[in-house]
Amino acid sequence: MYDVKAKPKQESLSLYKKHEKIYSRPIWGRFTALRTIGVVVLLGLYYVMAWVRINGQQAILFDLQNRKFHVLWFTFWPQDFIYMSLLLLAAALTLFFFTALAGRLWCGFACPQTVWTEIFIWMERLVEGHDRKQKKLDQGPHDLHWWSVKTAKHTLWLLFAFWTGLTFVGYFTPIRDLIGRMWTWQWGGWETFWVFFYGLATYGNAGFLREQICFYMCPYARFQSVMFDKDTMIVTYDKKRGEPRGRRRRDERPAWLGDCVDCHKCVQVCPTGIDIRNGLQYQCIGCGSCADACDDVMKKLGYPTGLVRFSSQRIMDEAGHTRIIRPRVLFYGTLLTIVLGLLGYSALFRMPLRLEAIRDRNVLYREGPGGRIENVFTLKVANMDDKPHRFVISVSGLPDAMLGTHEVAVAAGAVETVPVRLSVNGSRMNPGSAPFWWYVQALDNPTLQARRESRFLVPVTQP
Ligand code: SF4
Ligand code: SF4
Repeated sequence: MYDVKAKPKQESLSLYKKHEKIYSRPIWGRFTALRTIGVVVLLGLYYVMAWVRINGQQAILFDLQNRKFHVLWFTFWPQDFIYMSLLLLAAALTLFFFTALAGRLWCGFACPQTVWTEIFIWMERLVEGHDRKQKKLDQGPHDLHWWSVKTAKHTLWLLFAFWTGLTFVGYFTPIRDLIGRMWTWQWGGWETFWVFFYGLATYGNAGFLREQICFYMCPYARFQSVMFDKDTMIVTYDKKRGEPRGRRRRDERPAWLGDCVDCHKCVQVCPTGIDIRNGLQYQCIGCGSCADACDDVMKKLGYPTGLVRFSSQRIMDEAGHTRIIRPRVLFYGTLLTIVLGLLGYSALFRMPLRLEAIRDRNVLYREGPGGRIENVFTLKVANMDDKPHRFVISVSGLPDAMLGTHEVAVAAGAVETVPVRLSVNGSRMNPGSAPFWWYVQALDNPTLQARRESRFLVPVTQP
């Protein structure tokens, strides 16, 4: 009977769960090899590209001070922000396209969090040994051995993280100059801040937080499942084949058991510590380590591999084929092709020359001898080419136009400001403002030209 006088039982629930370190077991296989290639190629590019020079200039340099962005053979200016927008759009669509097609490829093989964590795990294994040794060390006494091993690991991590921060800033300040000034401690405040901030963020994220970034901080992990459908390729456990799971002797294959021998090797190698046999979980980054581990077990038992594999829900449920061409793949693919086409076209036909014409606002016009009317302009000629050029200045759309300045030399990647007097025959002009065009054209390369519309002011009472 329900006792109304009884005090309700009090239970306390902690909103905070203490983080337990995951000791993932090393494994080698097809997917681990792919991830290793990803780490080497992507981190290799990151650390090496900062040192590559093209035409005497750092190949990738976001020179914020001079507001120029050097990317390989191109120099982009703030006015070229359209390229940056298209590039970001293309990157986002590439991510959507591959997620719809093959699930969390990005998370498992290319995300900076994954690749840096991987390299920190390699360093950890190098110093502390494999997972069991690491666990034993962490659970053992903090003796001299413990201190020496931990000091070695953290020194290695910190040096690597510092180099990462230095390289990051090296993409914004020429890296050779940055390192040259490091020995005499001549870094500016922002340079010092970013080297240490980025370095410490790498040390913290890849050394300690690891999978927690994916669980609690990454927004992409949360919303990407909306891009999944029954045909998306994901890492899956073949339940029909594996269940009922159970241990057995190596030479046995009992008819009442499925192929899963419940060895837990797939769980032991998982960098996020989950059991793929429980189905699709948001913590799964799709790295494929469990598939490698399971294949290893299957081979040893003489069973067919692929109990855990990249597969789609459709294949698992209906034993059918995955449809690769489907509406969402076509949608992302078409958008991506359009954006890449636009990006390629605009980069290929980009005119590395900009012209601005600013009217002198102090004196709108001057009346000169012979009935001539004069307006004064300031032209800004930005030569975004990697060579210096001499440009000829001209106008069209004004009768008997005469210019005070006809040419301007502009160094590579420089902006030249030129005051120009422009006069016309007043008797042939109507009072008010008349539209006309400014032109600049390189003398050594007639295809390098720019134009800008402007207006010429004529007084109401003409001489
Ligand atoms: S479940 Fe498998 S694929 Fe997913 S994170 Fe763990 S090891 Fe990687
Ligand atoms: S590795 Fe394969 S056999 Fe072993 S528990 Fe995981 S799914 Fe079962």
